[in-house]
Amino acid sequence: MNESKFSKVESFELDHTKVKAPFVRKCTVLTGDRGDVVTKFDIRFTQPNEAEMQSEGIHTLEHLLATYLRDADEAFASKIIDVSPMGCRTGFYMTIWGEWEASFIAARVTEALQMVVSAESIPADNAVQCGNYRLHSLPLAKEYAKDVLAKGLSDSYLS
Ligand SMILES: [Zn+2]
Repeated sequence: MNESKFSKVESFELDHTKVKAPFVRKCTVLTGDRGDVVTKFDIRFTQPNEAEMQSEGIHTLEHLLATYLRDADEAFASKIIDVSPMGCRTGFYMTIWGEWEASFIAARVTEALQMVVSAESIPADNAVQCGNYRLHSLPLAKEYAKDVLAKGLSDSYLS
């Protein structure tokens, strides 16, 4: 299960009709040539092929999660490599140094979403720090965060 298969795209192997969002799924654990380990997570906010986030809202969530996840406990925050929106706009990928469990990531994302709900501004929403600074919506980001919090971010993904 921890074996990496570079010839396959991991997320294409997932049956998206069999999952129940919102959830955190531990996709894969990769080991580099020098033994360093990286874990990739699928953090799914909306039910695949039933609901999606609008670009303005998911973009703002990207900025807020980038900030608030790194405000979490330092041992965890310093290991985050990347948190990026999925092209299908149903969630995010997280890549992180070391091996972590979905339940821990779900707890950290839940804390970050609680901070999103009370956010008063969007970090780095300007032409210097962002590639499309007009494409933001704090109200939408809060709506998506509240929706995930109301449903509860599960650490098991199968319906
Ligand atoms: Zn941006």
